[in-house]
Amino acid sequence: MVSSNDAPAVVGLAGAPGAGVLRFIPLGGLGEIGKNLALLECGNDVVVIDAGLSFPDLEMVGVDVVLPDISYLLTRKDRLRAVLLTHGHEDHIGALPFYLGDFSVPIYGTGFTLGLLRNKLERRGLRGQPELHEVQPGETVRVGALTAEFIQMTHSVPGSCGLAINTPAGMVIHTGDFKLDQTPVGGAPPDLARLAELGRRGVRLLLSDSTNAPNEGITPSELSVRPALDAALRDSEGRVIVVTFASNLARLRQIVELAAANGRRSCLVGRSMLRNVATAMELGYLKQPPGGLLAPRDLSGLADQEVCLLATGSQGEPLAALSRIASGTHPFVRVRPKDTVVLAANPIPGNEATVSRVVNLLVEQGVRILAGSRDGVHASGHGAREELRFMLDLIRPQFFAPVHGEPRHLDAHRRIAVASGMGAEQVAVLENGSVLEVSSDRMRVAGSVRVGAVLVDSDGRIEGRSRTRRRGAEEEVVVTISLTIDRRLRTLIEGPHARALVPTVDPYQRRLLDEGCEAIKLAIRNRRPGFHHEADLRDTLQAVMDSHLAAQGSWRPTVVPIVTLA
Ligand SMILES: [Zn+2]
Ligand SMILES: [Zn+2]
Repeated sequence: MVSSNDAPAVVGLAGAPGAGVLRFIPLGGLGEIGKNLALLECGNDVVVIDAGLSFPDLEMVGVDVVLPDISYLLTRKDRLRAVLLTHGHEDHIGALPFYLGDFSVPIYGTGFTLGLLRNKLERRGLRGQPELHEVQPGETVRVGALTAEFIQMTHSVPGSCGLAINTPAGMVIHTGDFKLDQTPVGGAPPDLARLAELGRRGVRLLLSDSTNAPNEGITPSELSVRPALDAALRDSEGRVIVVTFASNLARLRQIVELAAANGRRSCLVGRSMLRNVATAMELGYLKQPPGGLLAPRDLSGLADQEVCLLATGSQGEPLAALSRIASGTHPFVRVRPKDTVVLAANPIPGNEATVSRVVNLLVEQGVRILAGSRDGVHASGHGAREELRFMLDLIRPQFFAPVHGEPRHLDAHRRIAVASGMGAEQVAVLENGSVLEVSSDRMRVAGSVRVGAVLVDSDGRIEGRSRTRRRGAEEEVVVTISLTIDRRLRTLIEGPHARALVPTVDPYQRRLLDEGCEAIKLAIRNRRPGFHHEADLRDTLQAVMDSHLAAQGSWRPTVVPIVTLA
């Protein structure tokens, strides 16, 4: 295990909280966007709220995902009653498949949340192992001496809920990720009546989503993106490639409907896109468009104006469809001038540089870009200042702790609470590992517990051993070929180096890659009059390696060229 913190699991904290005291302990998701996981402790009962992952920085080569360190949670295993899932985003459910071997308790979530979770479990060969309980919005479940009510909310994935957890030490409301969308696409509006009722009865502690706290006003409804998407699909001369999160079914649904209305067939690109759409259709959240959905290999007979591609990779993730399309390394899809790429998502804070790198690659190839809320093609799933203020006014909690955000988001949310009349002593800005204790008359940070980041490599290994069933031979192997060349694209300065992202190449495959690199060197040296464009060079890198491997046998990794200019 690679943990950023080797402190003991518990500092200044022993045993269960005293009578009439409840503890809220975030192990991830505070001071960062990602890997949300929190514990709520009261008496002899502990529940986990969400168990998500985050994605590594660009520099963390070979690291696939980052998990919260759950050492502290494991010290509470005997009193752990349930995992409650607010919704199915990666930053809320993604860590569960890695940790299910460490504790076995019932997991509660809505149908779509559990559908997305099942997809992940299946990929890791764990289907059927954990105890999954589907709940409907409005339903209450009993967990030890606590009850948890799932409350309908609106966000950017179906089945998003807030939680009202009734404890012997008072009512806790966790909003989950939310915006207050009165015109959601294909779902119910948030259950404000129920929240107001709970507020009237008295809420001890409110935990509320801070992601968009710095933004003024109200986040536009999902319906507001329809005109801009419609115009893009109607007016573009070439193909339209819409990039969005595969879990944003309301968005996918709008795109598929509008594409059909504008005479375009929809084609799904990317594995998570295919999986999520299949799940959504199974669960009735999405209908087949007339003529059905296409796969990239079905596109050959269609004119450019008849095509709408739906792809993943809105955050510039190097292995997702958009990056590979932009760099010319996607096996089926290449961009052409006159194509329009619609980025129907905003970069998550921290991903801006990665996204603009991909956008630059596309612009260089003559592609028109429509991006995010700026061009009206995206509406965030998180409420802005007025919605957060409304939530605080509706609940009127005794105590409040902003959650889900970097320090600047949490602080902006704190200021909203103070501006709406809460006293400074009623609001706590926490960090990962903070132990917040709340009783009928006070709230304090009583200590801290160990937190950190657990890095998982591309083969699913943590702590240096594999917790997964070995994946089959059909598993995709990705090899990066990196080199540094002078700005005139003539003289090789460094490399090429071949590196497999999955560390399973055997000595024979290693030799093939090394020989391929020699062939690339030769091809660069012999090229007259040189390369006109970086894209030519990348194409050559890939073509030479591909043809070398093809000549030597049946091993076909996906080759991703990386060119650095010096
Ligand atoms: Zn989230
Ligand atoms: Zn979310």
